[in-house]
Amino acid sequence: MNRKADAIIVGAGVIGSAVAFELAKRGYKTLNIDKLPTSGYGSTSNSCAIVRAYYSTLDGVAMAYEGFFYWDDWANYLGVNDERGMIQYMKTGSILLKLQGEDHSKKCLKLFNELGVEYETWDLETLKKKMPIFSHDQYGGTTRPDEDEHFWDKSGNQIEGALFTPGSGYVSDPQLSSHNLQVASEAKGGEFLFNSEITEIRQESGKVIGVTLKSGEQIDAPIVVNVAGPHSFIINQMAGVEDEMNIKTKALRHEVHHVPSPDGFDFEKDGYHTSDGDNAIYFRPEVGNTILIGSEDPECDPQEWIADPDKYNNQVTESQWQAQVYRLARRIPDLKIPSRTRGVVDLYDVSDDWIPIYDKSVLGGFYMAIGSSGNQFKNAPVAGHCMAELINACEKGHDHDADPVKVKTVYTGLELNMGFYSRNREINPNSSFSVNG
Ligand SMILES: Cc1cc2nc3c(=O)[nH]c(=O)nc-3n(C[C@H](O)[C@H](O)[C@H](O)COP(=O)(O)OP(=O)(O)OC[C@H]3O[C@@H](n4cnc5c(N)ncnc54)[C@H](O)[C@@H]3O)c2cc1C
Repeated sequence: MNRKADAIIVGAGVIGSAVAFELAKRGYKTLNIDKLPTSGYGSTSNSCAIVRAYYSTLDGVAMAYEGFFYWDDWANYLGVNDERGMIQYMKTGSILLKLQGEDHSKKCLKLFNELGVEYETWDLETLKKKMPIFSHDQYGGTTRPDEDEHFWDKSGNQIEGALFTPGSGYVSDPQLSSHNLQVASEAKGGEFLFNSEITEIRQESGKVIGVTLKSGEQIDAPIVVNVAGPHSFIINQMAGVEDEMNIKTKALRHEVHHVPSPDGFDFEKDGYHTSDGDNAIYFRPEVGNTILIGSEDPECDPQEWIADPDKYNNQVTESQWQAQVYRLARRIPDLKIPSRTRGVVDLYDVSDDWIPIYDKSVLGGFYMAIGSSGNQFKNAPVAGHCMAELINACEKGHDHDADPVKVKTVYTGLELNMGFYSRNREINPNSSFSVNG
């Protein structure tokens, strides 16, 4: 007799574990299967875990804003105490620099007003007081120091100030957040199977019936949810559903770097999560009084698509280190640039328009929460809630493709139209086509 579950979830990262918790709360006997040794060991483990609301679309902002409240209410939301400890939500607030001319902050301001997102607008004087280590020069375009001999030339303009969201920040330990979710799922009867690779999505008469593991073991379930992160396209190919999808996913290599805070400034304690569109970087405080820097994917940075997510260069490269760290040095002139590189490398699971796919598929009982595009850690608990509502509705016979499921959110009360995340949408022209979503 094969082992059985009501729903198998492929993957136990932060989103897979959140889907499990929300399904288990609704009475499903869930089983997360992951080829790694414990939850959150995949791309979640190297996430910057930043929680911020400035997306490029109304739906994107609404979902991210809802996420703020889950992280703020984490222990209460989960209702368990993980003996490994509970994550902390570091509510630093987020600075989105306001640049001269049309920029991301102006687009976001309109969306914030429409949705009631709490924010402050800081003029340059306020920004100077809050962040005395910032330069206020605008460079007028992001380039690479190894390609542009005018890299350090200023445009003569100054930035205008900042759009500040006090409710945002980052999560202290992304891997632990998955484990917290795992413990909460287990408390509701959910099970987790580790060191087990899925090699087949079994199906019969247009319906999923379970999976086969590399060991040859078969596990039966009428529902399988693909939450495989950067391996999502492989699982979709296994299920034979990829060809029917208008939006597809693929893996993109991404580097994050760490540098010490400038002398005399405690960035770990007094720094904010910041997005600097002029330099196409984001950065935030990190333990050990360091600054963590990521790229906002400017056109000048080469994109390294990865055909096999189990084989890629996981070492920081000198060229990308220089690009990101020197860009930060344009914003923080007192930055000390270490001679040795330090950082992490991992993969984004990028969709064609950098907006995730939270959807069903052409195969009955096969669902997906994929294409997280480097920007869905923050949304994991919201995505868990939305996927559970969507799965519930579809399993009761609702035709989600014809009449998209609408989900009422728990904290903000906003309504999310899940049709926005459809696998068969047209490419969304309002997307930033970057990690900003
Ligand atoms: C460097 C980096 C920085 C990021 N920064 C941020 C940020 O600041 N804010 C933000 O909101 N988001 C950020 N993200 C994105 C965010 O981390 C991801 O969207 C999120 O962690 C994805 O979670 P997941 O559960 O979908 O995937 P994963 O954590 O990758 O989990 C997928 C799991 O599936 C398993 N799996 C795959 N194939 C199989 C198989 N065949 N059999 C069994 N198991 C399988 C894997 O082992 C893995 O554990 C970042 C991502 C990266 C890489």
